[in-house]
Amino acid sequence: MATTTFTKKSLGLETTEPALTPPAKGAQTNFAKKPKLGSGKSKKRDIPEGLWTKCPKCETMVFDKELDENLKVCPKCEFHFPISARERIHSLVETCTFEEMDAEMTSVDPLEFVDKTPYPTRVQEHQTATGLKDAVLTGICKIGGHRVALGVMDFNFIAASLGSVVGEKLTRLVERATEKELPVIIISTSGGARMQEGMLSLMQMAKTSAALAYHAQRRLPYLSVLTHPTTAGVMASYASLGDLILAEPGAMIGFAGPRVIKDTTQAELPPGFQTAEFLLDHGLIDAIVPRKEMKQRFTEYLDFLDGRQKGATAASA
Ligand SMILES: [Zn+2]
Repeated sequence: MATTTFTKKSLGLETTEPALTPPAKGAQTNFAKKPKLGSGKSKKRDIPEGLWTKCPKCETMVFDKELDENLKVCPKCEFHFPISARERIHSLVETCTFEEMDAEMTSVDPLEFVDKTPYPTRVQEHQTATGLKDAVLTGICKIGGHRVALGVMDFNFIAASLGSVVGEKLTRLVERATEKELPVIIISTSGGARMQEGMLSLMQMAKTSAALAYHAQRRLPYLSVLTHPTTAGVMASYASLGDLILAEPGAMIGFAGPRVIKDTTQAELPPGFQTAEFLLDHGLIDAIVPRKEMKQRFTEYLDFLDGRQKGATAASA
């Protein structure tokens, strides 16, 4: 990760911090490894690439390494930056317990859809850029003492749009959970349906919801986590079906965007409309959980729900 060149990103930034911040533990070995230049006139300094990120909320320059260590949350104002699905899984599950399901599943192009680029090209570009096959990772893992069926969406992959692969992977995850009697946790983010898959994309809403209905019939818990942004088809299906619906602070959550609603209803929208905080006040979500507390809260909720479930089983026996 840490390399040794100045980049455009680290130039020209006005910060109150010195340009060369002492690297944290682990990054120090780069200094020793750097080969000496013969002339000795080069004074190029060893600065990790992509050094700073500006927080869009409080405008503080945050050292990238610090941001990573803080699970991509601004240490000053708690702004939640986007985080990749893999990083999120890493922050939540017990080490080496994530057994990924359907890792190789990829989209076909039944409509031979072309917008600016043909759909298969678009998919391939995003696969290369993100290292993902599609917009969700699913698998069975351990969180605290609980075995859990976990699905995590990644906005970097075509805005985490709900295509056939996302729908199928989540459905298989929920069906596996039902069969193995495991709780389900789905961490959502999405810009909506995968328009390049047309009707097939919309059908994923019904399919995932039906799988969750069977899961619910077995009285197994489903925790839905809404992260910034969770909208449209995902919000209108599995994301809003949780027994508990949690959200990250400041997340934008809704179906249509505010401008569309305003134009349709011809009404002024209240302040904070479609934020997690607004929806907590209005009863749509149950709790706002900061990213750093998410794992602990999952464990507490599952301890509680598991206890209830065992109690119910014992009572009916
Ligand atoms: Zn900030």
